[in-house]
Amino acid sequence: MPKQSLRDAEVQRKRVLLRVDFNVPLDMGTGAISDDSRIRGSLPSIRYLVDHRAKIIICSHLGRPKGKVDEKLRMKPVAERLSQLMGLPVSMAPDCVGRQTRESVKELGEGDILCLENVRFHREEETNDPGFAQELASLADIFVNDAFGTAHRAHASTVGVTNYLPAVAGFLMERELEAIGGLLNDPKRPFACVMGGAKVSDKMGLVENMLKRVNSLLIGGGMAATFLKAQRYEVGRSLVEDDKLDLAKELLHEASKREVHLLLPVDVVVADKVEAQAPAEVVPTGKITPKVHIVDIGPQTMELFSSELNKCRTIIWNGPMGIYEMPRFAQGTRSLVTLLSTLNATTVIGGGSSTDIVREMRLSDKMTHVSTGGGATLEFLEGIPLPGVEALLDKM
Ligand code: ADP
Ligand code: MG
Repeated sequence: MPKQSLRDAEVQRKRVLLRVDFNVPLDMGTGAISDDSRIRGSLPSIRYLVDHRAKIIICSHLGRPKGKVDEKLRMKPVAERLSQLMGLPVSMAPDCVGRQTRESVKELGEGDILCLENVRFHREEETNDPGFAQELASLADIFVNDAFGTAHRAHASTVGVTNYLPAVAGFLMERELEAIGGLLNDPKRPFACVMGGAKVSDKMGLVENMLKRVNSLLIGGGMAATFLKAQRYEVGRSLVEDDKLDLAKELLHEASKREVHLLLPVDVVVADKVEAQAPAEVVPTGKITPKVHIVDIGPQTMELFSSELNKCRTIIWNGPMGIYEMPRFAQGTRSLVTLLSTLNATTVIGGGSSTDIVREMRLSDKMTHVSTGGGATLEFLEGIPLPGVEALLDKM
């Protein structure tokens, strides 16, 4: 069911509680914000609220303070960066609930922006305590959720508050739901999913759900080893989850039953050790020897993947093709990203590492959608309902 968005709500002159995911990465040494893309992601919603003269109350968590005040996780630097990006003042509330916070809200003029303190300084946030949720909700007239990255968590500021306020999606949330929901429900075909990453166990639910929807499933990365071993290939000392071999066999069977093209690597880069400088070579998948580790997909595999993806009109990618953190084993992943950036297809990227690589290669603009969700994106793709989304008002 489509959800109401900011555009459907009457926000003029209203107090709007805007839940964002400003959980930005901080430099361990200096505490500086090392990547502000999560702040940038919610600028369209904030601009809209400013233009509509709403009284804007911003709420987010930052890091894992575990229910108590942590000086290193205060929202002030985030509010300052937001202020720079907006070119507008952003005031800081002393907390996210309580008398002084209510006073700060009272002082808000139309179009003003107030940033609440880290909502996870209160243990009641993560336990979704009704009293806490009600107090948070009492600050505002309307709730707007733009925190797609936190939508898989039923917390007070994502779900609890919706019991007390009309709740709609912000523009970032709306864009994520349209991009990923569209992919799941009505993709242009042929539709392919490219998967990689370290472990099969992390991604089994995703593979299962994708098998029901895609025309092609391309598997690389560490998880390919488990599928290769399930087909009786020697995979040496590669990361294999032996307890997942039967499941891998079932999935291979399921793919053939559903006539999904399931592509596994035909050649791989192997190394004696998983070390940046370890000797490495390309071998066909049938020639892997007992003492080596698979560290990347090979060039033939890339060609195979490329010719398959060139036929597709929709592609979702999650998970690196190799141990990309080591530059010599990053080739497969980087070639894939380059390929995706040139295809004339709908391209959606999900997952922490995968989206990091696209951003680092500065190719985000060449993709249809680079999801901001991490865990939320993966759960959504697995077909698990996201509590933060379910709680929003349905479109009429
Ligand atoms: P994402 O965050 O995009 O969902 P994952 O977290 O599932 O991706 O996987 C990322 C990790 O997978 C990376 O740390 C990468 O080194 C690892 N990986 C990829 N290929 C291999 C491989 N062949 N062997 C071991 N680890 C791998
Ligand atoms: Mg990851």
